[in-house]
Amino acid sequence: MTTSSILRSDDSCRLRAHYSLRWEVPAVTPYEILRRAVESGLRAESEDWAKHASDMAMKIACENTIDTSETDLLSMAKHIAALAEMIVWILRPENAPWESPEPVQIGNHTWEPSCFFGANESELRQIVIVDRINELKELEIRNSWDVRGESAIYNLPISVIVVIVGQLRNGKWKSPLTFGYRHPKAKDLRFRKRDDSQFADNWTRVFRELDDSTTEEWYDAILRDGVLTECFTVLPVECPTDAVRIVELAESKLDRIYDSAEIPEPQPSQCFQRINPCPYRHCCAEGPSEAAGFTKLPCAVPESDSLHRLPRRESHVAAR
Ligand code: SF4
Repeated sequence: MTTSSILRSDDSCRLRAHYSLRWEVPAVTPYEILRRAVESGLRAESEDWAKHASDMAMKIACENTIDTSETDLLSMAKHIAALAEMIVWILRPENAPWESPEPVQIGNHTWEPSCFFGANESELRQIVIVDRINELKELEIRNSWDVRGESAIYNLPISVIVVIVGQLRNGKWKSPLTFGYRHPKAKDLRFRKRDDSQFADNWTRVFRELDDSTTEEWYDAILRDGVLTECFTVLPVECPTDAVRIVELAESKLDRIYDSAEIPEPQPSQCFQRINPCPYRHCCAEGPSEAAGFTKLPCAVPESDSLHRLPRRESHVAAR
């Protein structure tokens, strides 16, 4: 677990961060499969790193329960695998695997990085996967622990590569990275008409994982239609001038997160975040347990008071 992910969880819901340090979840969200597969492809030493990302997505999907209400899990896994392959193929044209800086000590804690070095070790890169981007989302990203925090810790500027995958519907994300239209006769692959009008009904709708084209051919079609900017945007972020204050803030938050045995209050407004809903939402009121399929992590943090000693909270998370 990276340190910025712990702080990010803590920002949205302290209880989520509390649980995540103590319990490994039995199911992975589609977003989590995609994130892990992309990261694995970027780091891979193998010759075909994009294929590696695709294989990793299938592996994670097959070896874990997928946290979804969809029933066609194989189709979903293939869809995530094709998307991971496409993202890595585009992001990593060069041979060298992406590398992260070494962990560093801040106070009593080790900062485990989530970022990568850029083209050289004087700059950082971060990958952020979102369903959509607007000004507010951009501000949120720029000020997140994954960006501002990492930049402050390593005292380096950071380029944030935002991957926009669209909304997850019926087990599939829809963006030019995953979905296009084929001409009824010429079979050209298209994403957007020049005049922005809709494609006629006789155009065939195709998902990437079901199409015969190679990754390169699909990518060329994205470039031809000029829709790459709908899928990626890069945010350059300078090293914060208040880096010392940010590191101190990280340290004091980590002190609280790790040193407190108290169970924090839940934050129900954060349970169903769009792209990555909380993995504890089905068991939040009772708390995770081995009986519910969670695995207890070796305790690096104080044991929390057992829940039965506390007044029982009313269930605040609707069953889903
Ligand atoms: S389910 Fe909601 S309240 Fe519970 S830990 Fe997750 S985000 Fe927090």
